[in-house]
Amino acid sequence: MHKQKLRIGLIQHQSVTFAQQPRHTRLALPIARRTAKERACPLSIEPETMSDHNPGLRPWRDIMRRTSRQIMVGNVPVGGGAPITVQTMTNTLTSDPVATIDQIRRCEEAGADLIRVSCPDTESTAALGKIVRAARIPIIADIHFHYKRALEAADAGAACLRINPGNIGSSERVGEVVRAAKANGCAIRIGVNAGSLEKDLLEKYGEPCPEALVESALDHIKLLQDHDFHEYKVAVKASDVFLAVAAYAQLADAVDCPLHLGITEAGGLIGGTVKSALGIGNLLWAGIGDTIRVSLSAEPEEEVRVGYEILKSLGLRTRGVRVVSCPSCARQGFDVIRTVQALEEALGHIKTPMSLSVLGCVVNGPGEARETDIGITGGGNGKHMVYLSGVTDHHVADADMIGHIVKLVEAKAAEIDAGSSVSMDVTHGKAA
Ligand code: SF4
Repeated sequence: MHKQKLRIGLIQHQSVTFAQQPRHTRLALPIARRTAKERACPLSIEPETMSDHNPGLRPWRDIMRRTSRQIMVGNVPVGGGAPITVQTMTNTLTSDPVATIDQIRRCEEAGADLIRVSCPDTESTAALGKIVRAARIPIIADIHFHYKRALEAADAGAACLRINPGNIGSSERVGEVVRAAKANGCAIRIGVNAGSLEKDLLEKYGEPCPEALVESALDHIKLLQDHDFHEYKVAVKASDVFLAVAAYAQLADAVDCPLHLGITEAGGLIGGTVKSALGIGNLLWAGIGDTIRVSLSAEPEEEVRVGYEILKSLGLRTRGVRVVSCPSCARQGFDVIRTVQALEEALGHIKTPMSLSVLGCVVNGPGEARETDIGITGGGNGKHMVYLSGVTDHHVADADMIGHIVKLVEAKAAEIDAGSSVSMDVTHGKAA
């Protein structure tokens, strides 16, 4: 009864026309079924967050984001129309600040907006202050069960605590954590996981299901609200894509806080990327989600790259070179696969949003090149056509091709940077 009241209370805070649509239409056809008025919602993607996407001009590309309350994680806004942030998690020992800071640096270079570190023991929270001071992005401390680690992490400067208030023992302890969070300006992230659902919910529902995940989230939320704490975001993760997507969709209807998306334990680089793209991508396409973490059995910087690729594919954020390339076939005028591999490696340092098409022949090369900043199309006799801003410009020989394209991209990035004073990450206080 009490939970029902809470749920209703939370729904009343929400003012999302999107939530009023039948769920089956939202998830199956999240964009096409929306009215022009809904598509024109001022809380849809801000123009500067788009890549080559002009809202309204191509309505079939528009995504109307769910309205959420904004919270701050350090200096990074989450929710409330802020750019969707990409986060990851270190896998070094937090008690080893040198190794952890090294890994954080690599993730920062890859574009991470936020980063989480585990704090399982006092050695970890003792090292946290040094890590927080060295990091250029806000640190989220991951705490399980031991509420004293949360108090230590908040004092050490963590911008956010990932802790489930229902797991730390008593209302007094929750009160202590909330006091520490308030005193240090910390947000809290509630992280419900299908793999560690509370026993009573498993008994009630028989197995992890969307309703159980959402009820668990609402229980944790209530504990924070009872202590007058509202700077929280919530995740309801599962390794099963269907379960996770359904749980997030239900949660999005029930609460107004920002949502942290993730398909947990998604797998290795390829399998996990596909699962995450389906799960996270489906939700983002439906307008749900304020921050994402791709969970891979791969290095954290790979998670960041995959996270960005998902956002870039949906036109929700831009960063670096968006490569359009063909799979290659017998018509290719150069080795497309090896060329794209070499270019992706050589262009990893480019942060300026721009596009590059690499096509093996004239079948699709000119068409793709017309839509990209720089294009290369394979030709005969080892000579290939270079397009600049969609127009044929000059030829380049096989042997010089990669170095030549890298120089062209660097020059274009410098030109774009010089011409644009506002980047999408201006709200983060840093260059994209
Ligand atoms: S663009 Fe040309 S080389 Fe590439 S897959 Fe298509 S036909 Fe083959």
